[in-house]
Amino acid sequence: MTPYERSRCMAAIKGRNTKPEMLVRKFLFAKGLRYRVNSRKLPGSPDIVFRKYKTVVFVDGCFWHGHQDCRLSRLSKSNIDFWRHKINLNIARDYRADVELRLLGWRVIRVWECSLRDSASREATLTAIYERIVSPHKCASYTMIETENGVVAEPTESYGKR
Ligand SMILES: [Zn+2]
Repeated sequence: MTPYERSRCMAAIKGRNTKPEMLVRKFLFAKGLRYRVNSRKLPGSPDIVFRKYKTVVFVDGCFWHGHQDCRLSRLSKSNIDFWRHKINLNIARDYRADVELRLLGWRVIRVWECSLRDSASREATLTAIYERIVSPHKCASYTMIETENGVVAEPTESYGKR
């Protein structure tokens, strides 16, 4: 591992209260929103949960969650297959969590770490998150269940252990 990857891994192990996530929480708190954090009761354990708006937010590390074509997710050549495999599992797990959450009627917002680290895009990213949370939200589960070739094919029973 490169020193950068190692530090990404340590952050992933520590997992919670990472700096980009704190930025989002502070911004939204200052905007008057109230929330719960790290809800283990919901699929994928969303980082931030806004019950009133039926919305969850994940702040995803680019390396760990496999942000495509992002400089923060670049793999070093050593052990590349090992990391690629691990990251692909994470991508699949994220996808399943999104599907399950939407079936439960939650709106899912995922934010890439890089859009918060870069000070040029940070403000716009935070504002966009806020606006999506407070914007009207039709219960997604209805539209998804009613589409014929939509999520009906997705098994709705539990995935793995939670
Ligand atoms: Zn990224």
